Amino acid sequence: MEMLGEITSLMQEMIRNKCINPPGNEMKSIRTVERFLSSYGIESEILESAPERGNLLAVMEGSGNHPSFMLGPAHVDVVPVENEKDWKVPPFEGTIKDDCIWGRGSLDMLYIVASQTVVFAKLHQEGFKPKGDLKLCIVADEEASGNYGANWLVQNHPEKVRVDYLITEAGGDPIGPNRITYVYGEKGTAWTRLRFLGEESHGSAPYNSNNAVVKMSKAIQRISEYQPPRHTSLLIPFIKAMGIGTVTRVLMGNTKTLGFMFRQLSKRNKKDAAFLNSMTQMTISPNVCEGGAKVNTIPGQAYVDVDVRTLPGQDEEYVIDQFQKALAGMLDDVIIEAVPVDLGGGFNPGNISEMESPLVRIMESVIRELRGKEITLVPMVSPGATDSRFFRRAFGTNAYGFSIHDGTLEVGEIMSMFHGTDERVPLGTLELTSNGYMEIIRKLLS
Ligand SMILES: [Zn+2]
Repeated sequence: MEMLGEITSLMQEMIRNKCINPPGNEMKSIRTVERFLSSYGIESEILESAPERGNLLAVMEGSGNHPSFMLGPAHVDVVPVENEKDWKVPPFEGTIKDDCIWGRGSLDMLYIVASQTVVFAKLHQEGFKPKGDLKLCIVADEEASGNYGANWLVQNHPEKVRVDYLITEAGGDPIGPNRITYVYGEKGTAWTRLRFLGEESHGSAPYNSNNAVVKMSKAIQRISEYQPPRHTSLLIPFIKAMGIGTVTRVLMGNTKTLGFMFRQLSKRNKKDAAFLNSMTQMTISPNVCEGGAKVNTIPGQAYVDVDVRTLPGQDEEYVIDQFQKALAGMLDDVIIEAVPVDLGGGFNPGNISEMESPLVRIMESVIRELRGKEITLVPMVSPGATDSRFFRRAFGTNAYGFSIHDGTLEVGEIMSMFHGTDERVPLGTLELTSNGYMEIIRKLLS
């Protein structure tokens, strides 16, 4: 109970700090964590990547040869609130209401920042002697590039932040009856710009014109209908753990019948179909386009920016190859390039940790102790990116997204609150998550 009070008051202070990225100014919440730790006599190191962009590291050195483990990287930056009036409570006050703590960032991911910080402090207070290094890492800039946060730490202080295992955000969601997720990998991004050239001429005489917008619209049609090859290696363990019936499992496990299965599922549940499909192929979504300048002029230029998400193992060459296949016959009219870096371009490969590892087995035993013997952990690869990718890539860290939701909110509700309205976390989730982390560390490091 005592932990819960400390977690909520830490969260309230961080919600009120309003570290909206951009610009972030995360140093406010980094100082909050530093003050809390020093009230327990814990020294921490602040690593500043830029003015007001802070990261914090605290370490308990291991006394044995167990693997090293990190709580975090846990980010304190949050995304903006579009319309405060849509919220039931003011989004930057940290209101406690209906057994939840409300506010921007509460779910993404201040409840984990606060739980991990308090767990670290309590372990220190009770004189816990880890047999492998135990690190607490609180970071800036996850909601943008990570270039002032996790990526910067991995590049500039690799020896300080390198670990064998870590637990950070996402996961712990109640995805079905007695089914709770953990995230062991994520897809990559390869945002792609398709450019089209035409010939400018007067819009009053379009006969046989060379119109860049027309070319673009044909290409958009093509890529939105194109289906890249499907793979089942991420989907099969997922549906198996979900306890899906044998017949469905066989049909979904076969790339020849998988497309049919998704079309059927989509008729009943579009969201589920889109989510499961994302685990099986590179996805292509043309999302922004621009072309032409004036209504009386045939456009000489147009482009479309495409959100492309790759599976682990698919590289840049694969992406280009897929576009070439999708656009066969019209390649003379299109230039395939990356979206400019300042708009989030640049290839960012999918990445994955061991689906089964000693830590995963510990997570499963702890969640069964806390939530019931009948719980099964469901291995998930997320379609979106987190800071885990930097650690997987740099050190081969086994990085997992894991927390423990109390089951009072449904998974759909939880998902809609990420970057959404009325973001909140049940107090029960804070208790389970912090007790869970505590147990996991005891089991892994003693
Ligand atoms: Zn987050």
